[in-house]
Amino acid sequence: MDEFDIIDRYFAPLAAENQNALGLTDDAALVHPPTGHELVIAKDAIVQGVHFIGDETPADIARKLLRVNLSDMAAMGAKPYGYLLALMLPSSTDNTWFASFARGLREDQKRYGITLLGGDTTHTQGELCLSATMLGWTPVGAALKRRGAKAGDDLYVSGTIGDGALGVRVARGEPRIASRESRNYLLQRYRLPEPRVMLGQRLKGIATSCMDISDGLVQDLGHICECSHVGAKIDFPLIPLSQAARAVLPKIQSPYETVLAGGDDYELLFTAPPEAAKALSALARKLDIRIGRIGSIVKGNRIKVMNEQGKMLILKRRGYSHF
Ligand SMILES: [Mg+2]
Repeated sequence: MDEFDIIDRYFAPLAAENQNALGLTDDAALVHPPTGHELVIAKDAIVQGVHFIGDETPADIARKLLRVNLSDMAAMGAKPYGYLLALMLPSSTDNTWFASFARGLREDQKRYGITLLGGDTTHTQGELCLSATMLGWTPVGAALKRRGAKAGDDLYVSGTIGDGALGVRVARGEPRIASRESRNYLLQRYRLPEPRVMLGQRLKGIATSCMDISDGLVQDLGHICECSHVGAKIDFPLIPLSQAARAVLPKIQSPYETVLAGGDDYELLFTAPPEAAKALSALARKLDIRIGRIGSIVKGNRIKVMNEQGKMLILKRRGYSHF
């Protein structure tokens, strides 16, 4: 099969319902943001051995690729619209792979209301490398940003933290101490993160700053603090943990670092003034999402994490570094 057969058979059907993609027959797609909205664009790549292990189904790899990009849309409060793909594949990639990959894309297109808009496929001598560019929109001027946090704001996270980092360890064969149920849960959280797309859109007008946690809670909070010229205090015992994480953490080395610096959470980290607490708990109920207050924004430029005894934690690392 050549590239054109692959497009016709596996990718064109994913763009069929959206006229702006022109059935993937042209050199580019045409996109019109709704009146009064601005385009929000993000790009994320995932590489075998770094972002996924390689034993996942192609369908799950496809979904993870979309979801890490959707998480960036959530972080900006954008409504996702569509995406472009760039796939660097070993020449051994066969029809079964493409069929499964396209199935995964279709599943999450439906789930998140997005469409394929275009892309490119090339061969690589190296590891599988996949990239997507996600497009979405927000009303002009309404996007959530990392700047805007103020001293006195409360600091929040969605969902539970640390599951992704524990999931990687499960995928690599440790920690064996977890029950089968916990292992499956943590693995799933790593393989198929849940981008908080609805929550992001509903935080507009409530949150003073927002981002998604991909490289580790403390390191990512550092970006909000830097952009907003503030410091922060986290109370470790307030950080929401899943049942599985609660069971596993006491049995592993560096439990604090796993939660605070592990990464792969794809949850939202945001700030809001104390008056917003009621609106946030109503929103959590409505969307059936956990929203947990984990600390507050303070003056200065330091991030302090307090342990169960109210003592400051000294961390060996703050997050994941790609270089
Ligand atoms: Mg991000």
